[in-house]
Amino acid sequence: MKNHMHHPLPNALRPSLAEALALADRRCAELGRRWTVSRQRALEILLEANGPVKVYDLLSSFKPGGLTAPATIYRAFEALVDLGMAHRIDSLNAYMARHFIDKAQATLLLVCDQCGRVDEVAPPTPALLTAIKAHSTFLTETVAVEAHGCCGDCRA
Ligand SMILES: [Zn+2]
Repeated sequence: MKNHMHHPLPNALRPSLAEALALADRRCAELGRRWTVSRQRALEILLEANGPVKVYDLLSSFKPGGLTAPATIYRAFEALVDLGMAHRIDSLNAYMARHFIDKAQATLLLVCDQCGRVDEVAPPTPALLTAIKAHSTFLTETVAVEAHGCCGDCRA
């Protein structure tokens, strides 16, 4: 877990930082929510990392513009989770940009316990949500599943 490897998405699949931020801004407006400087900076950090970001590491390594107090940083990341723009990965105490921002309500995260890599895949959402609905009156808004194991690179 000490080795922070970067596994960027293929460029063709990856919107530019400016495009991603513009999309987030529009999405916020659609939802009638405020898009603040600290939320934008938090999203920039996640997009630039292109993988899980531990808040603890951020605190010790740098103080990004506009985000200085731990509580401010946590609030900004939590706001992104709330807006559907980021995942909180509980088992790693980390956050990660959500790539399927427009597409799926449910996300499957594949967490490698060796190198800390996290891959985001969208499972067949309607089936999963239907299954939940069939078993409960609970109104589901989002589903995030963390699968733990060993990635292809670590197994090679
Ligand atoms: Zn791995």
